[in-house]
Amino acid sequence: MSKKVDRIDQRLDKARMRIKRSEDRQVIESVFDTRTLLTLYHMFNRGILDEINGVISTGKEGNVYLGVQPDGSDAAIKIYRITTFNFKRITMYLEGDPRFARIPRSRSGLITAWASKEYKNLIRAEAAGVRVPHPIHVQRNILVMEFIGENGLPAPTMHQQEPEKPEPTRKAILQAVSRLYHEANLVHSDLSEYNIMLWNGPVLIDISQAVVLDHPYSEMFFERDIRNIIAYFDGFDIPKLDLADTIKAIRAGEFK
Ligand code: ATP
Ligand code: MN
Repeated sequence: MSKKVDRIDQRLDKARMRIKRSEDRQVIESVFDTRTLLTLYHMFNRGILDEINGVISTGKEGNVYLGVQPDGSDAAIKIYRITTFNFKRITMYLEGDPRFARIPRSRSGLITAWASKEYKNLIRAEAAGVRVPHPIHVQRNILVMEFIGENGLPAPTMHQQEPEKPEPTRKAILQAVSRLYHEANLVHSDLSEYNIMLWNGPVLIDISQAVVLDHPYSEMFFERDIRNIIAYFDGFDIPKLDLADTIKAIRAGEFK
């Protein structure tokens, strides 16, 4: 027994050694429970990650950190937090998804399913030609993906910075919505200026709650996503798009 404890302690210490930037170190560690540290340890060991650095964002259900891959390139590490997770909400998004026919009953099982849902959604979106962060790895509550930005500096979200060319940006976003719908059979379901980064055009992020078209509310989420985008761009001095016409065109696969 004590040998086993020693071994785990050693692993935790090794994981802690890769947590860099001393000023952030205690803050970072304080949000990592033992399981999360062990999962990070496995990722370090398997050559998926080399380091984990400062916090990029602290959200309601998890944090995003800057990571370094063994080849020196940046990565974004999204770590879902066990304690503050809203389980009612996420169960609603998992229901009806054939990929998650069995909804886990334990908290940790649910979080694992949630992280893996975001990973699978990223793969599907990317295969459909939608610009999203390239997914690199998922394990338990940790998702590793391509870093959008450069030199450790994340690109702005569309909430933080207005697009320079609003009309083509709106078009690219609605085309992405259409591709997601028709090619990936997915609806983002939380699309707004907060979940779109601007990096040489729009990049859709935060896709864990995206649902398949079989989901009972997929059409409602689809309309809400489009409404949010149209409303955002109504604040710009560009020709307005009619909401009902746009929904109809995207649904019919005729949005140009
Ligand atoms: P929130 O509750 O604030 O919506 P969240 O838990 O839903 O947070 P995301 O929306 O996926 O998490 O990401 C939060 C923030 O982290 C983003 O607004 C963005 O600034 C940053 N971020 C997310 N993914 C990446 C990425 N791949 N590359 C760089 N930065 C990222
Ligand atoms: Mn978000």
